[in-house]
Amino acid sequence: MVKNKKIGTVISIKANYYFVQYEEDIFICSIRAILKKEQKEIKVGDLVVIEESSLNDKTAVIDDVLLRKNEFTKPSIANIDQAVIIMATKEPPFSANLLDRIITTLAFYKIEPVICLNKIDVKSPDIEDFIRNTYLPLEYKIIFTSALKKWGIDELYECLKDKVSLFLGPSGTGKSSIINALNPGLELSIGETSSKTGTGRHTTRHVSLLTLKKGTEIAYVADSPGFIFLDLLNIPSLELMWCFKEFHPFITKCHYSSCLHWTEPGCAVKQNISQNSNRYKNYIEFLLEIVQKEKSDISPLRKEKSTKIRCTKGGKQIEIIRLGQKSRAGSKRLNRQKLKDEERLLEYDEEKF
Ligand code: GDP
Ligand code: ZN
Repeated sequence: MVKNKKIGTVISIKANYYFVQYEEDIFICSIRAILKKEQKEIKVGDLVVIEESSLNDKTAVIDDVLLRKNEFTKPSIANIDQAVIIMATKEPPFSANLLDRIITTLAFYKIEPVICLNKIDVKSPDIEDFIRNTYLPLEYKIIFTSALKKWGIDELYECLKDKVSLFLGPSGTGKSSIINALNPGLELSIGETSSKTGTGRHTTRHVSLLTLKKGTEIAYVADSPGFIFLDLLNIPSLELMWCFKEFHPFITKCHYSSCLHWTEPGCAVKQNISQNSNRYKNYIEFLLEIVQKEKSDISPLRKEKSTKIRCTKGGKQIEIIRLGQKSRAGSKRLNRQKLKDEERLLEYDEEKF
Protein backbone atom coordinates (compact mmCIF):
# COMPACT_ATOMS: atom_id res chain seq x y z
CA MET A 1 0.00 0.00 0.00
CA VAL A 2 1.33 3.45 -0.88
CA LYS A 3 1.44 5.55 2.26
CA ASN A 4 -0.05 9.04 2.06
CA LYS A 5 2.74 11.41 3.14
CA LYS A 6 2.53 15.18 3.33
CA ILE A 7 4.73 18.06 4.46
CA GLY A 8 3.06 20.43 6.90
CA THR A 9 3.97 23.14 9.42
CA VAL A 10 3.82 22.59 13.20
CA ILE A 11 1.62 25.44 14.47
CA SER A 12 1.31 24.46 18.14
CA ILE A 13 2.32 21.82 20.64
CA LYS A 14 0.12 20.73 23.52
CA ALA A 15 1.15 17.92 25.85
CA ASN A 16 2.40 15.20 23.49
CA TYR A 17 0.33 16.33 20.53
CA TYR A 18 1.57 18.31 17.59
CA PHE A 19 -0.87 20.39 15.56
CA VAL A 20 0.24 20.44 11.96
CA GLN A 21 -1.24 22.70 9.29
CA TYR A 22 -1.39 21.13 5.86
CA GLU A 23 -3.20 23.26 3.27
CA GLU A 24 -6.70 23.87 4.70
CA ASP A 25 -6.48 21.19 7.39
CA ILE A 26 -4.99 20.85 10.84
CA PHE A 27 -3.79 17.36 11.71
CA ILE A 28 -3.35 16.22 15.30
CA CYS A 29 -0.12 14.26 15.30
CA SER A 30 1.97 12.03 17.51
CA ILE A 31 5.64 11.29 16.84
CA ARG A 32 7.05 8.12 15.32
CA ALA A 33 8.90 6.12 18.00
CA ILE A 34 12.22 6.31 16.10
CA LEU A 35 12.15 10.12 16.24
CA LYS A 36 11.53 9.96 19.97
CA LYS A 37 14.54 7.66 20.32
CA GLU A 38 16.71 10.17 18.48
CA GLN A 39 15.49 12.71 21.04
CA LYS A 40 14.97 15.22 18.31
CA GLU A 41 12.88 18.06 19.71
CA ILE A 42 10.16 19.20 17.35
CA LYS A 43 9.48 22.90 17.46
CA VAL A 44 6.67 25.17 16.40
CA GLY A 45 7.56 26.34 12.88
CA ASP A 46 9.12 23.00 11.95
CA LEU A 47 8.29 21.55 8.56
CA VAL A 48 7.42 17.92 9.19
CA VAL A 49 6.65 14.88 7.09
CA ILE A 50 3.39 13.42 8.29
CA GLU A 51 1.62 10.22 7.44
CA GLU A 52 -2.12 10.11 7.88
CA SER A 53 -3.33 7.51 10.37
CA SER A 54 -6.85 7.80 9.16
CA LEU A 55 -8.24 9.54 6.10
CA ASN A 56 -11.25 10.86 7.99
CA ASP A 57 -10.36 11.97 11.49
CA LYS A 58 -7.35 14.21 10.65
CA THR A 59 -4.88 12.36 12.81
CA ALA A 60 -1.37 11.56 11.66
CA VAL A 61 2.10 10.50 12.73
CA ILE A 62 5.18 12.69 12.31
CA ASP A 63 7.78 10.69 10.37
CA ASP A 64 10.54 13.22 9.95
CA VAL A 65 11.59 16.82 10.51
CA LEU A 66 13.03 18.85 7.63
CA LEU A 67 16.28 20.76 8.02
CA ARG A 68 15.72 24.07 9.81
CA LYS A 69 16.72 27.42 8.37
CA ASN A 70 17.07 28.80 11.91
CA GLU A 71 15.94 27.89 15.42
CA PHE A 72 15.58 29.48 18.82
CA THR A 73 15.17 28.10 22.31
CA LYS A 74 13.47 30.78 24.34
CA PRO A 75 10.83 30.47 23.16
CA SER A 76 11.19 27.30 21.20
CA ILE A 77 10.53 28.10 17.54
CA ALA A 78 12.09 27.28 14.16
CA ASN A 79 12.17 28.59 10.59
CA ILE A 80 11.39 32.25 11.20
CA ASP A 81 11.34 34.05 7.84
CA GLN A 82 11.01 37.64 8.99
CA ALA A 83 10.10 39.94 11.84
CA VAL A 84 7.59 42.74 11.50
CA ILE A 85 8.65 45.58 13.78
CA ILE A 86 5.52 47.47 14.71
CA MET A 87 6.07 51.02 15.87
CA ALA A 88 3.36 53.66 16.38
CA THR A 89 3.23 57.31 15.39
CA LYS A 90 2.23 58.04 18.99
CA GLU A 91 1.07 56.30 22.17
CA PRO A 92 3.73 55.04 22.62
CA PRO A 93 5.84 57.74 20.93
CA PHE A 94 8.01 56.70 17.96
CA SER A 95 11.59 55.85 18.94
CA ALA A 96 14.24 55.63 16.21
CA ASN A 97 16.68 54.28 18.78
CA LEU A 98 14.41 51.38 19.68
CA LEU A 99 13.74 50.68 16.00
CA ASP A 100 17.50 50.49 15.28
CA ARG A 101 18.03 48.38 18.37
CA ILE A 102 15.54 45.81 17.08
CA ILE A 103 16.82 45.95 13.46
CA THR A 104 20.39 45.49 14.71
CA THR A 105 19.55 42.50 16.87
CA LEU A 106 17.52 40.91 14.09
CA ALA A 107 20.46 41.37 11.72
CA PHE A 108 22.69 39.50 14.17
CA TYR A 109 20.22 36.59 14.16
CA LYS A 110 19.90 36.85 10.36
CA ILE A 111 16.17 37.58 10.49
CA GLU A 112 14.90 39.97 7.83
CA PRO A 113 13.03 42.97 9.29
CA VAL A 114 9.88 44.57 7.95
CA ILE A 115 9.34 48.07 9.35
CA CYS A 116 5.69 48.79 10.02
CA LEU A 117 4.59 52.22 11.22
CA ASN A 118 1.05 51.92 12.58
CA LYS A 119 -1.51 54.56 13.62
CA ILE A 120 -0.84 56.71 10.56
CA ASP A 121 -4.41 57.99 10.89
CA VAL A 122 -2.82 60.17 13.57
CA LYS A 123 -1.00 62.77 11.43
CA SER A 124 2.69 61.92 11.25
CA PRO A 125 4.40 63.22 8.08
CA ASP A 126 7.73 63.83 9.87
CA ILE A 127 8.00 60.27 11.16
CA GLU A 128 6.95 58.81 7.81
CA ASP A 129 9.57 60.93 6.02
CA PHE A 130 12.25 59.98 8.54
CA ILE A 131 11.53 56.28 8.06
CA ARG A 132 11.46 56.59 4.26
CA ASN A 133 14.67 58.62 4.11
CA THR A 134 16.57 56.43 6.57
CA TYR A 135 15.51 52.90 5.73
CA LEU A 136 14.52 52.90 2.04
CA PRO A 137 18.15 53.44 0.94
CA LEU A 138 19.05 50.43 3.08
CA GLU A 139 16.46 48.41 1.14
CA TYR A 140 14.41 47.48 4.16
CA LYS A 141 10.75 46.77 3.54
CA ILE A 142 8.54 49.55 4.92
CA ILE A 143 4.78 49.48 5.39
CA PHE A 144 2.58 52.25 6.77
CA THR A 145 -0.65 51.08 8.37
CA SER A 146 -3.65 52.12 10.34
CA ALA A 147 -5.31 49.14 11.97
CA LEU A 148 -8.13 51.50 12.92
CA LYS A 149 -8.86 52.63 9.33
CA LYS A 150 -7.67 49.35 7.72
CA TRP A 151 -5.04 51.22 5.70
CA GLY A 152 -2.04 49.24 4.45
CA ILE A 153 -3.46 45.95 5.75
CA ASP A 154 -3.64 44.29 2.30
CA GLU A 155 -0.07 45.33 1.56
CA LEU A 156 1.02 43.87 4.90
CA TYR A 157 -0.76 40.59 4.13
CA GLU A 158 1.03 40.36 0.80
CA CYS A 159 4.30 40.57 2.69
CA LEU A 160 3.27 37.94 5.27
CA LYS A 161 1.76 35.23 3.08
CA ASP A 162 3.58 31.89 2.79
CA LYS A 163 5.97 33.00 5.56
CA VAL A 164 6.49 32.61 9.29
CA SER A 165 6.69 36.07 10.86
CA LEU A 166 7.27 37.46 14.30
CA PHE A 167 5.50 40.63 15.35
CA LEU A 168 7.75 42.74 17.53
CA GLY A 169 7.48 46.16 19.09
CA PRO A 170 6.57 47.92 22.31
CA SER A 171 3.14 47.31 23.78
CA GLY A 172 0.39 49.62 22.67
CA THR A 173 1.69 50.07 19.12
CA GLY A 174 -1.18 48.00 17.73
CA LYS A 175 0.12 44.46 17.22
CA SER A 176 -3.15 42.79 18.25
CA SER A 177 -5.22 45.34 16.35
CA ILE A 178 -3.21 44.67 13.18
CA ILE A 179 -3.55 40.90 13.56
CA ASN A 180 -7.30 41.36 14.02
CA ALA A 181 -7.48 43.60 10.97
CA LEU A 182 -5.58 40.95 8.99
CA ASN A 183 -7.92 38.22 10.15
CA PRO A 184 -11.11 39.52 11.76
CA GLY A 185 -12.07 36.00 12.83
CA LEU A 186 -9.24 35.84 15.37
CA GLU A 187 -10.74 38.34 17.84
CA LEU A 188 -7.62 38.82 19.94
CA SER A 189 -8.36 41.01 22.90
CA ILE A 190 -7.22 44.52 22.00
CA GLY A 191 -5.44 46.46 24.71
CA GLU A 192 -4.82 43.35 26.76
CA THR A 193 -1.46 42.50 25.25
CA SER A 194 0.29 45.13 27.32
CA SER A 195 -0.92 43.68 30.60
CA LYS A 196 -0.13 40.19 29.33
CA THR A 197 3.33 41.22 28.22
CA GLY A 198 4.27 42.08 31.81
CA THR A 199 6.45 39.04 32.18
CA GLY A 200 4.24 36.14 31.21
CA ARG A 201 4.26 36.58 27.46
CA HIS A 202 7.94 37.42 27.27
CA THR A 203 9.11 34.42 29.21
CA THR A 204 6.74 31.86 27.76
CA ARG A 205 8.64 28.91 26.35
CA HIS A 206 5.82 27.77 24.16
CA VAL A 207 4.65 29.79 21.30
CA SER A 208 1.97 29.02 18.73
CA LEU A 209 1.56 30.16 15.17
CA LEU A 210 -1.59 32.01 14.24
CA THR A 211 -2.70 31.09 10.76
CA LEU A 212 -4.04 34.09 8.91
CA LYS A 213 -5.98 32.88 5.89
CA LYS A 214 -7.10 34.61 2.74
CA GLY A 215 -8.70 32.25 0.25
CA THR A 216 -6.23 29.43 -0.13
CA GLU A 217 -3.30 31.54 1.09
CA ILE A 218 -1.89 31.26 4.61
CA ALA A 219 0.39 33.56 6.60
CA TYR A 220 1.88 32.31 9.86
CA VAL A 221 2.44 34.76 12.70
CA ALA A 222 3.98 33.82 16.06
CA ASP A 223 1.52 34.72 18.78
CA SER A 224 4.11 35.91 21.24
CA PRO A 225 5.32 39.47 20.68
CA GLY A 226 8.67 40.49 22.14
CA PHE A 227 11.16 37.67 22.41
CA ILE A 228 13.81 37.38 25.04
CA PHE A 229 16.40 36.04 22.59
CA LEU A 230 16.37 39.45 21.00
CA ASP A 231 19.00 40.88 23.28
CA LEU A 232 21.36 43.41 21.75
CA LEU A 233 23.95 42.55 24.38
CA ASN A 234 24.40 39.07 22.88
CA ILE A 235 26.19 40.69 19.94
CA PRO A 236 30.01 40.68 20.29
CA SER A 237 31.52 44.18 19.89
CA LEU A 238 33.45 43.11 16.79
CA GLU A 239 30.31 41.82 15.08
CA LEU A 240 28.06 44.80 15.75
CA MET A 241 29.40 46.64 12.67
CA TRP A 242 28.10 43.86 10.40
CA CYS A 243 24.56 44.56 11.69
CA PHE A 244 24.73 48.02 10.06
CA LYS A 245 24.30 47.46 6.32
CA GLU A 246 25.62 50.88 5.34
CA PHE A 247 29.01 50.10 6.95
CA HIS A 248 29.59 46.99 4.85
CA PRO A 249 31.42 48.50 1.84
CA PHE A 250 33.96 50.24 4.13
CA ILE A 251 34.59 47.82 7.00
CA THR A 252 37.55 46.06 5.41
CA LYS A 253 39.12 49.33 4.25
CA CYS A 254 39.93 50.71 7.72
CA HIS A 255 43.58 51.13 8.72
CA TYR A 256 43.26 48.73 11.67
CA SER A 257 41.80 45.32 10.98
CA SER A 258 40.14 45.32 14.40
CA CYS A 259 38.72 48.83 13.92
CA LEU A 260 35.50 49.41 15.81
CA HIS A 261 34.85 52.61 13.79
CA TRP A 262 34.84 54.63 16.92
CA THR A 263 37.89 56.81 17.64
CA GLU A 264 40.47 54.90 15.61
CA PRO A 265 42.52 56.87 13.07
CA GLY A 266 42.26 55.86 9.39
CA CYS A 267 38.68 54.61 9.76
CA ALA A 268 37.03 54.21 6.35
CA VAL A 269 33.57 53.88 7.89
CA LYS A 270 33.82 57.27 9.59
CA GLN A 271 35.17 58.82 6.40
CA ASN A 272 32.11 57.66 4.49
CA ILE A 273 29.23 57.67 7.00
CA SER A 274 28.11 60.92 8.59
CA GLN A 275 28.97 60.86 12.26
CA ASN A 276 25.95 63.10 12.85
CA SER A 277 23.57 60.57 11.37
CA ASN A 278 21.09 59.03 13.69
CA ARG A 279 22.20 55.50 12.76
CA TYR A 280 25.89 56.17 13.43
CA LYS A 281 25.03 57.70 16.82
CA ASN A 282 22.95 54.64 17.63
CA TYR A 283 25.83 52.38 16.56
CA ILE A 284 28.15 54.13 19.04
CA GLU A 285 25.52 53.95 21.78
CA PHE A 286 25.03 50.19 21.23
CA LEU A 287 28.80 49.63 20.98
CA LEU A 288 29.39 51.31 24.34
CA GLU A 289 26.71 49.18 25.97
CA ILE A 290 28.22 46.01 24.51
CA VAL A 291 31.80 46.97 25.44
CA GLN A 292 30.66 47.70 29.01
CA LYS A 293 29.07 44.27 29.18
CA GLU A 294 32.11 42.49 27.71
CA LYS A 295 34.30 44.31 30.20
CA SER A 296 32.23 43.09 33.12
CA ASP A 297 32.39 39.54 31.68
CA ILE A 298 36.20 39.40 31.98
CA SER A 299 37.06 37.25 34.98
CA PRO A 300 38.24 39.25 38.02
CA LEU A 301 41.12 36.76 38.56
CA ARG A 302 42.58 37.55 35.13
CA LYS A 303 42.35 41.25 35.88
CA GLU A 304 44.11 40.72 39.20
CA LYS A 305 47.02 38.90 37.55
CA SER A 306 47.38 41.52 34.82
CA THR A 307 50.53 43.41 33.87
CA LYS A 308 50.80 46.76 32.10
CA ILE A 309 52.81 47.30 28.90
CA ARG A 310 53.52 50.62 27.22
CA CYS A 311 53.61 50.83 23.43
CA THR A 312 52.79 53.11 20.50
CA LYS A 313 49.70 52.79 18.38
CA GLY A 314 48.76 55.18 15.57
CA GLY A 315 51.60 57.46 16.69
CA LYS A 316 50.15 57.62 20.20
CA GLN A 317 51.61 56.24 23.44
CA ILE A 318 49.11 53.83 24.92
CA GLU A 319 49.06 51.43 27.81
CA ILE A 320 47.97 47.86 27.18
CA ILE A 321 46.93 45.67 30.04
CA ARG A 322 48.05 42.07 29.55
CA LEU A 323 45.66 39.83 31.41
CA GLY A 324 46.64 36.80 33.49
CA GLN A 325 46.57 33.56 31.50
CA LYS A 326 43.49 31.43 31.78
CA SER A 327 44.07 28.06 33.39
CA ARG A 328 41.08 26.54 31.63
CA ALA A 329 42.11 24.26 28.78
CA GLY A 330 40.74 24.95 25.33
CA SER A 331 41.71 25.60 21.75
CA LYS A 332 44.96 27.57 21.81
CA ARG A 333 43.94 29.62 18.83
CA LEU A 334 40.56 30.51 20.34
CA ASN A 335 42.13 31.34 23.69
CA ARG A 336 44.69 33.56 21.98
CA GLN A 337 41.90 35.36 20.09
CA LYS A 338 39.86 35.78 23.29
CA LEU A 339 42.93 37.09 25.09
CA LYS A 340 43.52 39.58 22.30
CA ASP A 341 39.90 40.74 22.34
CA GLU A 342 39.95 41.20 26.09
CA GLU A 343 43.19 43.14 25.92
CA ARG A 344 41.73 45.33 23.25
CA LEU A 345 38.74 46.07 25.44
CA LEU A 346 40.92 47.03 28.36
CA GLU A 347 42.97 49.15 26.03
CA TYR A 348 39.80 51.07 25.18
CA ASP A 349 38.95 51.03 28.83
CA GLU A 350 42.12 52.92 29.64
CA GLU A 351 41.62 55.40 26.84
CA LYS A 352 37.94 56.16 26.93
CA PHE A 353 36.11 55.31 30.11
P1 GDP B 1 -0.49 45.96 21.21
O1 GDP B 1 -0.20 46.12 22.68
O2 GDP B 1 0.71 46.29 20.39
O3 GDP B 1 -1.07 44.63 20.85
O4 GDP B 1 -1.56 47.12 20.84
P2 GDP B 1 -3.15 47.00 20.74
O5 GDP B 1 -3.55 46.35 19.46
O6 GDP B 1 -3.68 46.43 21.99
O7 GDP B 1 -3.53 48.56 20.60
C1 GDP B 1 -3.24 49.51 21.61
C2 GDP B 1 -4.19 50.70 21.47
O8 GDP B 1 -3.93 51.39 20.25
C3 GDP B 1 -5.68 50.30 21.44
O9 GDP B 1 -6.40 51.26 22.18
C4 GDP B 1 -6.02 50.38 19.96
O10 GDP B 1 -7.38 50.70 19.75
C5 GDP B 1 -5.13 51.51 19.49
N1 GDP B 1 -4.79 51.39 18.06
C6 GDP B 1 -4.34 50.27 17.42
N2 GDP B 1 -4.14 50.52 16.11
C7 GDP B 1 -4.47 51.81 15.91
C8 GDP B 1 -4.46 52.67 14.76
O11 GDP B 1 -4.12 52.28 13.62
N3 GDP B 1 -4.82 53.97 14.95
C9 GDP B 1 -5.21 54.45 16.16
N4 GDP B 1 -5.53 55.74 16.25
N5 GDP B 1 -5.23 53.68 17.27
C10 GDP B 1 -4.88 52.36 17.15
ZN1 ZN C 1 36.85 51.79 11.01
